[in-house]
Amino acid sequence: MKETFVNIACYQYSSEAQIVKGKLQSEGIEVFLADQVLIDTDPLISQAIGGVKMNVRTCDRARALAVLNEIENYSLDNEGKRLICPSCNSIHVKVYTNVKDLRSFLAFLISFLTFSLPIHYKYDYYCESCKNKFS
Ligand SMILES: [Zn+2]
Repeated sequence: MKETFVNIACYQYSSEAQIVKGKLQSEGIEVFLADQVLIDTDPLISQAIGGVKMNVRTCDRARALAVLNEIENYSLDNEGKRLICPSCNSIHVKVYTNVKDLRSFLAFLISFLTFSLPIHYKYDYYCESCKNKFS
């Protein structure tokens, strides 16, 4: 029987994908990352090609998504600790990048094409509990 795979998540950095991959594997789910090596070679192209794709077998999909739900919703810092909102101490913090809007995406693209550092490229965090935004 031919195996089929399904994409369950995308990550901007392969380190992030690796953390989640480890968690899924510890649950007995085999994970296949796509474009990981490419992004490791040049992390700046991650946005352009859609990040590291995390795929699992179609039959593992529901289980994998349940694991992702547990761990994925809230942001981790570089040491893998949960980020906490500075104003209300909530753990319900999500990362967003301002590259998602068109102007910064174009700025990103231009800087990518000209090999300069992206000016509009940064992360912010967003607290779901108190709507606080912080960096
Ligand atoms: Zn908050």
